[in-house]
Amino acid sequence: MTTVRPPIFDFDDAFFWEGATEQKLLIQRCGECDTLRHPPTPMCAICGSTNNQTTQSAGSGIILTWIVSQHPTEPDAEPRIVILVQLDEGTRIVSNLIDVEPTHDQVLNDKRVEVCFVDYGGTVLPQFRLAGVQS
Ligand SMILES: [Zn+2]
Repeated sequence: MTTVRPPIFDFDDAFFWEGATEQKLLIQRCGECDTLRHPPTPMCAICGSTNNQTTQSAGSGIILTWIVSQHPTEPDAEPRIVILVQLDEGTRIVSNLIDVEPTHDQVLNDKRVEVCFVDYGGTVLPQFRLAGVQS
């Protein structure tokens, strides 16, 4: 069983982690210019507004790039596939691809993925699966 260190919430990203516990992928949205951004930041880089809102992502997108993590942060951690997802809403998120064997001899770029939520010992993380694959 994979365990993770619980996230440390701060003012700007608490909504993201609270959303994950409710199985929602929430993305920060500027309340002035509607620009989406992830990870959350205190101020919009486009217009400078601190009017921060959220929007719920449908959780689908494509893999832009990926790696097999071979330097796990914990000595007993299993290798995993770390992916950069281009969400259909237009912003990007780094996450893990689950239910796929972590090998280098495959092509994952441009594959469609869908978010899922996995409880790792009390910490719920948004993760991704290849689209159309049921667990
Ligand atoms: Zn803005």
